[in-house]
Amino acid sequence: MFQGKTALVTGSTSGIGLAIAEALAAQGANVILNGFGDSSGPRAAVEAAAAAAGFGGRVGFHDADMSVASRIEQLVEYANAEFDGIDILVNNAGIQHVANVEDFPVEKWDAILAINLTSAFHTTRLTLPRMKEKNFGRIVNVASVHGLVASVGKAAYVAAKHGLVGFTKVTALETARTNVTCNAICPGWVLTPLVQKQIDDRAARDGMTVEAAKIALLSEKQPSAEFVTPAQLAALVIFLCSEVGSQIRGVAWNMDGGWTAQ
Ligand code: NAD
Repeated sequence: MFQGKTALVTGSTSGIGLAIAEALAAQGANVILNGFGDSSGPRAAVEAAAAAAGFGGRVGFHDADMSVASRIEQLVEYANAEFDGIDILVNNAGIQHVANVEDFPVEKWDAILAINLTSAFHTTRLTLPRMKEKNFGRIVNVASVHGLVASVGKAAYVAAKHGLVGFTKVTALETARTNVTCNAICPGWVLTPLVQKQIDDRAARDGMTVEAAKIALLSEKQPSAEFVTPAQLAALVIFLCSEVGSQIRGVAWNMDGGWTAQ
């Protein structure tokens, strides 16, 4: 489906971003990975998906810290030099920190806003001119149910994700007369390292097993009582990036087991 196109997925060495990268490679796209930690395993997984697709899709990697504007500029320069630019941009990198407003560490607030929100502004402003020139572009911002509703202890995350949904709408309006679309997806609970930490913290805080903490976390917010999977989210991203998705613009599409229906 995306043969000859290049996708950048920020924060794709783990979790949801890695699943999206694999799915895009399986559809024939060149994929540029980004993120922290050991990149060799994720890279091998995405290369295997590209090889299985059989379209000769290439896989690149750039270790830009998405909280630093100059590093994001270098990442986009790398994509322009090595891959003829970015056709599909998935702004996925994100972090979490849980604390009440009055106790919220200022440096955590700044980091969450920078990584979860401002990085999408930088990647978008840097990639849009080339997308418009080619008259093709798909931008998917990985927001959250916390882009639509709030939870206690998540001031920075909720502010950043609501901001990302707003930014998505403005970008969609500004590109409405082009073949560039911009949408957000809003996952509920997905069992990734980002959520595992919250489960472990809850187990320690409430003196329960990790398994019991997992069930408590799900039953509190997610009516299905099941986690959304990275693969399900990746399939939604593929749909939004496809030709069928060309008139889906500026939505914040939740996949949340019923969380926001309540
Ligand atoms: P994860 O911790 O598994 O992955 C996060 C990725 O971001 C990793 O590759 C990490 O290296 C990268 N990253 C973190 N800081 C970075 C930085 N400064 N620069 C570059 N890369 C950085 O988390 P995940 O659950 O897969 O989360 C991915 C996205 O999905 C995030 O934006 C998160 O807010 C969102 N999300 C997750 C859930 C969930 O339940 N897991 C729900 C809704 C939304």
